Amino acid sequence: MALTQARKLGLTGKILIGMGAGILFGLLLRNLFPESTFIENYVTEGFLNVIGTIFVSGLKMIVVPLVFISLVCGTCSLSDPSKLGRLGGKTIVFYLFTTAIALSLAISIAILVHPGNASLVSDGLVFNAKEAPSLSQVLINIVPTNPLQAMSEGNMLQIILFAVIFGFAISHIGERGKRVAALFNDLNEVIMRVVTLIMQLAPYGVFALMAKLALTLGLETFGSVVKYFFVVLGVLLLHAFVVYPSLLKIIAGLNPFTFIRKMRDVQLFAFSTASSNATLPVTIETAEHRLGVDNKVASFTLPLGATINMDGTAIMQGVATVFIAQVYGIDLTITDYAMVVITATLASIGTAGVPGVGLIMLAMVLNQVGLPVEGIALIIGVDRLLDMVRTAVNVTGDTVATVVIAKSEKEFNEVTFNDTQAGKAASSFNDQLNAK
Ligand code: ASP
Repeated sequence: MALTQARKLGLTGKILIGMGAGILFGLLLRNLFPESTFIENYVTEGFLNVIGTIFVSGLKMIVVPLVFISLVCGTCSLSDPSKLGRLGGKTIVFYLFTTAIALSLAISIAILVHPGNASLVSDGLVFNAKEAPSLSQVLINIVPTNPLQAMSEGNMLQIILFAVIFGFAISHIGERGKRVAALFNDLNEVIMRVVTLIMQLAPYGVFALMAKLALTLGLETFGSVVKYFFVVLGVLLLHAFVVYPSLLKIIAGLNPFTFIRKMRDVQLFAFSTASSNATLPVTIETAEHRLGVDNKVASFTLPLGATINMDGTAIMQGVATVFIAQVYGIDLTITDYAMVVITATLASIGTAGVPGVGLIMLAMVLNQVGLPVEGIALIIGVDRLLDMVRTAVNVTGDTVATVVIAKSEKEFNEVTFNDTQAGKAASSFNDQLNAK
């Protein structure tokens, strides 16, 4: 009985249990053995670190082959080059549009709520900002000089460009191209199965990540920036649960509740790994198998989104800029705010889909409007938690855009979207195993 129930419990349920159990386990150890070096060496940095890192590495392991193979499949089935151009144009416009909404919300709410209190500034705040790349360098870097190097470094924009050219060439060499395309389609199936296998490990991986977080998170700095934390959190939730669903309903005429329900796994993965890139395998699998988006669209828009579309990050950067200005008692003019919108959009585009980079890119925004970069030191203490939530928003934004664009390109299966059971890949794989 218990066994059947455990089997019936979907992957989401198991991940949630892993998450809750991990937090409880971490808090328990933290309170029972405060500052124990044994726990630190053998539990936090020992087995929890090993399991958590192996899980995240497993996800990252498949990102490059998955993006390359899936995108080659996608582009070689798009034989019409104008369609590819249109798809690219629409995607970028939609991404910029949602980022602009995110930033406007973030800045106006931060101005209204006024989280920054000038008495917060204390002496000795130091933050060494890394230099952000220039725009011309960003453009030049899109073209790989060596595609294998791009893959080994995981440079997503370069991989995307190479895969698109490669797939495009396959679709233009007739019969021989068809054979290569068939091979890539088979490889795509293989890689999707690898994704499913790794997803089975998620409950344990998430347990370890959450327990480690509960053991290490320093909440001491939390007090002074509580208001900032809740403003960012509030805008993130507003964007995820009001703006995105409205866009889905208004532009694509789809039921937002179905979407939200099916996105739960993706959001949990994003939340636990704080990395859009590491979540990419789950995002692609969900978009194609659960939401009914054709591979042609998903294989292009999702890797691109995980690299350049970071609405959650833009929200944090918008609120943080206003907050730091308020804390230092600096008045921003309308032109400054316009500058914040432009630079934060660029900064979020330049933010890599890995943990914590959004905060580094914030330095670029602050520099641009002449605010003290040391202000970052104020918010660093609560950034780990916000990073998790904003990553979940980032991947949700990528998927909303993917669904909307797929629908407009007629590369979308609405029956799959509305079918609550569609593509429950992980459980069907379990069933297959059990049937053997
Ligand atoms: N962790 C975020 C992501 O992967 C990026 C950031 O804001 O730091 O989407």
